Amino acid sequence: MIHTLPTLEYPYNALEPFIDAETMEIHHSKHHQAYVDNLNKALVGSGLEEASLEEIFENIHTASPAIRNNAGGHYNHSLFWNFIKPQGGGNPKGKLAEAINEYFGSFEAFQQKFAETALGRFGSGWVWLIVDKDNKLVISTTPYQDNPLMCDADVVGLSVLGLDVWEHAYYLNYQNKRADYVKAFWSIVNWEFAEQRFEKTQS
Ligand code: MN
Repeated sequence: MIHTLPTLEYPYNALEPFIDAETMEIHHSKHHQAYVDNLNKALVGSGLEEASLEEIFENIHTASPAIRNNAGGHYNHSLFWNFIKPQGGGNPKGKLAEAINEYFGSFEAFQQKFAETALGRFGSGWVWLIVDKDNKLVISTTPYQDNPLMCDADVVGLSVLGLDVWEHAYYLNYQNKRADYVKAFWSIVNWEFAEQRFEKTQS
């Protein structure tokens, strides 16, 4: 299986002023491309050449560190470009909105907890809204390019929404101010995509 860089569905400058064009271009065409290239290299001779990313994550303890980091990087970024969109933001709707209210009390309380978790992730990683194995809606965080599908994640589950909190995702525009980047995220969230992912877990 040869992995390839997915095409971005919108121009690099389409998320301004929340994410600047230069950050988007470097993030997609350099960082994500490197995860793809390094994954393809690491898979050679591994016995996992034909495995899907999901299959690799289910048995992540059998993968080399290079496969773990780059398969995670490729998968996480492929999702991330869909978790955000131009003219996004607003509030979630439908069943996801109901579940957020049920598990977090209100949308605002959910946003606050998500932001706190993002700020609490020391160094590089991701913050997630996931449906866990007990079908509960949970905020979790993973280091580096790990994700909640990896069988050894602190909380295993299917991601509904995720935010890249590596400095490469925000440093040009926000420098050390991760909180401002997280705040900007709410203006570009693709809630329709998150709602679809949530509803799939409920069917
Ligand atoms: Mn990234």
